[in-house]
Amino acid sequence: MGRPLRHTGGNELIMADPKKRGFRTTLTHTGRKTKHEHGFVNPPVHRGSTVLTPTVAERQALQARRGERVMTYGLSGSETHWALEDVMAATEGGTRCYVVCSGLAAVTTPLLAWLKTGDHLLMPDHVYGPARNFCEGFLKRFGVETTYYKPEIDGAGITALMRPNTTVVYTESPGSHTFEVQDVPAIASAAHAGGAKVLMDNTWGIHHFQPFKHGVDVSIQAATKYPAGHSDIVIGTVTVNSDADWTRLHTTARGLGQYASPDDCWLTLRGMRTMAVRLQTQMEAAIQVGHWLRQQPEVAQVLHPALPGAPGHEIWKRDFTGACSLFGVEFKPQFPAVSTHKFVEALELFGIGASWGGYESLAVPTTGFITRTAGSGKFEGPVVRLHIGLEDVDDLIADLRQGLDVMRDRVAG
Ligand SMILES: *Cc1c(COP(=O)(O)O)cnc(C)c1O
Repeated sequence: MGRPLRHTGGNELIMADPKKRGFRTTLTHTGRKTKHEHGFVNPPVHRGSTVLTPTVAERQALQARRGERVMTYGLSGSETHWALEDVMAATEGGTRCYVVCSGLAAVTTPLLAWLKTGDHLLMPDHVYGPARNFCEGFLKRFGVETTYYKPEIDGAGITALMRPNTTVVYTESPGSHTFEVQDVPAIASAAHAGGAKVLMDNTWGIHHFQPFKHGVDVSIQAATKYPAGHSDIVIGTVTVNSDADWTRLHTTARGLGQYASPDDCWLTLRGMRTMAVRLQTQMEAAIQVGHWLRQQPEVAQVLHPALPGAPGHEIWKRDFTGACSLFGVEFKPQFPAVSTHKFVEALELFGIGASWGGYESLAVPTTGFITRTAGSGKFEGPVVRLHIGLEDVDDLIADLRQGLDVMRDRVAG
């Protein structure tokens, strides 16, 4: 399959086929055309709405090429957008990517592209909360019915839930609060057998899960997370792997007026240049912290798919080449949820907050606000979600240790 990664301007510094090179090389070199940028390493930020042409004929010629990578109007994108799209498409192993204004828009845009009134949608029970809200609000109002399935479902389970009007089967693996790992290849083949498209929120896996090699048709990234990497941008991407899917995605996203700020695209691209080393460091740190937490008497289990024996580990080992640094900790039931609030509040290096993928560590209690309707996400004790940043691991562990001391004292006293 041809990879339309080369901008129409053409430049030998763009790799014709990044699949042949390593991930780090791809992140370093894709989307750069130094010959066009006066020798500067990075592309410029193209800000603009109007694109001027010297003559009417040239304007008409430009308009005739709508849909191609030509700058005709701000909304149709610029080289700043395309550079980021190319790096993300290469990261996920797809052919084309569309950058949108948020991770949530990256969820809703392909749902709107592949669903219509009267359709049926299968959603995993652990799906990102605002995506569930979108199904229960928008999609319901437009006559799309959603069934939630247990994330650990197998292919036969999906087959049993498929109806003649099931057009989309959605996946998210692992869940971003409770970390159930899905058997995406089995789900995808059952979905395809029933004629449905497979969408996946691949934010956790990023390049560690190659969606198109596992049967996914459309891959969603909250690029807000590790790609942007600095907790200062909200942005999303949708990647596909066929010309027909690209046409459907492009038409819908463009029709909805989806647009990401060129400044945010530029900063996300800048983030992606260093993403491989951040991911590697944060992955190693998170695994180290996870092993340490497992040994603490207050902890019932660590919900980190990369830890041997953890829920979903076998599928993770089969399908993933690495992990990110977001995972959960279930405390023993004698610790009530309020005591874990004290634990989180006692931490000095972990901020209390949503989102993740930045350079700094975060901790947030999970149990209590997650919505489930298919029976998943049940734990005996309270769960806290940790995001491990780029701090020294010893400092993080020392901080967690004093946080546990505070929690234990509270329960004892
Ligand atoms: C954060 C997140 C999103 C949404 O991203 P935003 O940029 O915050 O809108 C979608 N899916 C998952 C799994 C997320 O963690």
